[in-house]
Amino acid sequence: MDSKKILQDLISFPTVSSESNLALIDYCFKLLREVTSDIKIIEDTAKNKANLYASIGPKDKSGVLLSGHTDVVPVNEQDWSFPPFSMTEHNGNLYGRGTADMKGFVACALQCALNTKNIELKEPLKLALSFDEEIGCVGVRSLIEMLDNHSLQPRFCIVGEPTLMKIATKHKGKTVCRVSLTGKGIHSSEAPKGLNAIYLATDVIQSIRKKQADIIKHSLIKSDYDIPYTTIHVGSIEGGTALNIVPNHSSLIFEIRNSPEDNPNDLLEGLKVNSKDALSKIQKEFPEADAKFEIINNYPSLDTSNSSEVVSFVGSLIETNDIIKVAFGTEGGLFNQLGIPTVVCGPGSMSQGHQADEFISLKELKKCDSMLSNLLKKLELGF
Ligand SMILES: [Zn+2]
Repeated sequence: MDSKKILQDLISFPTVSSESNLALIDYCFKLLREVTSDIKIIEDTAKNKANLYASIGPKDKSGVLLSGHTDVVPVNEQDWSFPPFSMTEHNGNLYGRGTADMKGFVACALQCALNTKNIELKEPLKLALSFDEEIGCVGVRSLIEMLDNHSLQPRFCIVGEPTLMKIATKHKGKTVCRVSLTGKGIHSSEAPKGLNAIYLATDVIQSIRKKQADIIKHSLIKSDYDIPYTTIHVGSIEGGTALNIVPNHSSLIFEIRNSPEDNPNDLLEGLKVNSKDALSKIQKEFPEADAKFEIINNYPSLDTSNSSEVVSFVGSLIETNDIIKVAFGTEGGLFNQLGIPTVVCGPGSMSQGHQADEFISLKELKKCDSMLSNLLKKLELGF
């Protein structure tokens, strides 16, 4: 067994977020059972998907946690020249859905676990494999809850999303919000007697655009994010049933991707206040006018200090000391919120993630194997 063979097996499970990941979890369970009996499977309520949490080594020590997600994004409407769910090796690269994001890391982490077979660890190696990360870090919540109830949490966490094996300490958080608007329906020939809910939606959109403009105006453009400020973006809008009816309902969905220094709840509250002020005038004539804001999903930003112990610890395991920020979100912010110092560091590049002909180079996989074998040495010695 090596990480490449494990990766080949992992790719063959088409664990698109909408599908079950249980067959893959069972595969991981059977592999890990060779080295530990301390494996927890945390199923979702439909018992169709599961997280896996395993610990190898002494139970009374904190150890290091390796975290990865098992789901992948769909391949529909993508033009693949390699089979997405059967790994192909070509010119030093391994092709298949999830090779970069992020079964490559999961394969290396499983191999690292197997490598503990004839070793006595002084500090435990811990593995967290989640589901439904790609739809907004949804599945990992039950695992986080379990860890929260644990008295002994890992000392450090490495989330192995693809960073080309650089250490990422920061990424933005994300809040997804739906606004449902209620107006007053009427035949369109009498439009002024009604209240057009689509117009109410455009008022909210105006307020969002103004907020974005204010953020840009006041942001200190000296961050190394590609977009160095918090963004607010409306992604979908629906409303109306027919041209001759003034719509009484509409809704829109928007997201806030906040820089670690901005609190998304403050932004949301500001938008709610604007909406309430605008509605209070309208409600004098149309008391039914309403705007309901609801958070559909959110995950926190990651904001680990570059001078923290986890950064120097992971830095000591790899050859580079490059510290970066990443544009994509990860489960890292949730581990960090628990008080577990966390960085993102994994093989491959997110430029290949979610794309047709996704790949990881064998070189990257080897680099990750080497980081994790250095980690094992540390765990063997007890840091
Ligand atoms: Zn990912």
